[in-house]
Amino acid sequence: MDIEGRRRVPHIEDGRVTTTGRILDLLRTQGTLSRVELAGRTGLTAATITHAVRRLIEGGLVHEVGLDPQQGRGQPRRLLELNAASWCAVGIQIDRTTTTIVVLDFAGGRIAHAGLRGSGGDGPDATIAALADHVTDLLRRNGVPQERVLGVGLVTHGPQDRERGTLLTAQPEPEWLEFPLTDTLSSLLGLPVLLENDATAAAFGEQWAGAVPTDTFGLIYMASGIGGGVVVDGESYRGRASNAVEIGHVALNGGSARCVCGNRGCAQAEAGPRAVVEQVLADAPLAERLGVNGPPDGTLADFERIARAWHRGDRDAAAPLERSARWIGQAAVTLVNLFDLDTVVLAGPAFVTAGPLYRERIAAELELRALSRALSRPEVRLAANVDTAAAIGGALHVLRTIPIGARAPGTSSDVPNHISAPPHEGAS
Ligand SMILES: [Zn+2]
Repeated sequence: MDIEGRRRVPHIEDGRVTTTGRILDLLRTQGTLSRVELAGRTGLTAATITHAVRRLIEGGLVHEVGLDPQQGRGQPRRLLELNAASWCAVGIQIDRTTTTIVVLDFAGGRIAHAGLRGSGGDGPDATIAALADHVTDLLRRNGVPQERVLGVGLVTHGPQDRERGTLLTAQPEPEWLEFPLTDTLSSLLGLPVLLENDATAAAFGEQWAGAVPTDTFGLIYMASGIGGGVVVDGESYRGRASNAVEIGHVALNGGSARCVCGNRGCAQAEAGPRAVVEQVLADAPLAERLGVNGPPDGTLADFERIARAWHRGDRDAAAPLERSARWIGQAAVTLVNLFDLDTVVLAGPAFVTAGPLYRERIAAELELRALSRALSRPEVRLAANVDTAAAIGGALHVLRTIPIGARAPGTSSDVPNHISAPPHEGAS
């Protein structure tokens, strides 16, 4: 399938229409299921399931792994499992100060992982070329043949035009606005590339990891900036430009700092990693003691130095973090009130060390101010994969969305149900 064809790839919300897609999704989240269980969970007839499973087994995507030990009397039920080795997907999360790449197998298991510097002041051309090199290198070092890679999920801040694979913002630099990100990376790698919002991808990644005990929750994502996401009944709400729940640009009560968006008092301007670093820089002896020196491309590294000092018990380092966490707690109150949530997840590289402090302070703000606090105490959780959730979500988005036929050699885009036989090399 060509690039034009890929643009018509349905999003996962639409992608659930295919029977095979629903079966693969269920097996990816549940591990093993019998045909009877698949029929029960999808509401489809036994005949439809049997037919679809036969096609998936013939295509090498699913295999039988023995009999269901839970079963009582009756005809023995064979358990089905995804063939993890059949395909892989790459997820890339990138922002100005950090890049994470993960490679997942077809069942969602992690094959490889790399943490790299962010785009810095580089333009999109140089950044995408470097990403293509890193991905090629990571696949080679881990023995993953390119032919087994279904596609790449590229995860960035919003707003985005996901159809065209472009950013609709001049952040981090003007040349990023409407640069053909996915088309450029796709032609360099020879793989389909999908664009996704970082907070949405992180929510997706956490849901997949089974780390959230509810299918309706909010997520606060903090890397260089602050973003948000909301999953309702298991589906993410993306908004018009993949930039829904932008709580980094909620103006806070008492805030006055000028924000890149043109407003004043936004959560990101008052409480984002840069604001924390600036506060430490204003105290020269403290900045020197903590090794904080303030280059724009080193914001997360400086923030991490402050967080580590807090972790070691440095009370001077705790003050700017606690101030930031209280501000973000205020934004979390808005998030919880707007969507009537009882769970908020914290994800993103800024929470790697400082996460427990933020969790505690944000929970305290919610307990004090959330409208629903009398009904239930909103819970704040740290993501299970706090720094890689977004990249994992990007790779999962590919596994769940790109038709298998799009990558099988010598197949056309009109393969029925988007399934055709994958290559088998490397399968085990
Ligand atoms: Zn703003």
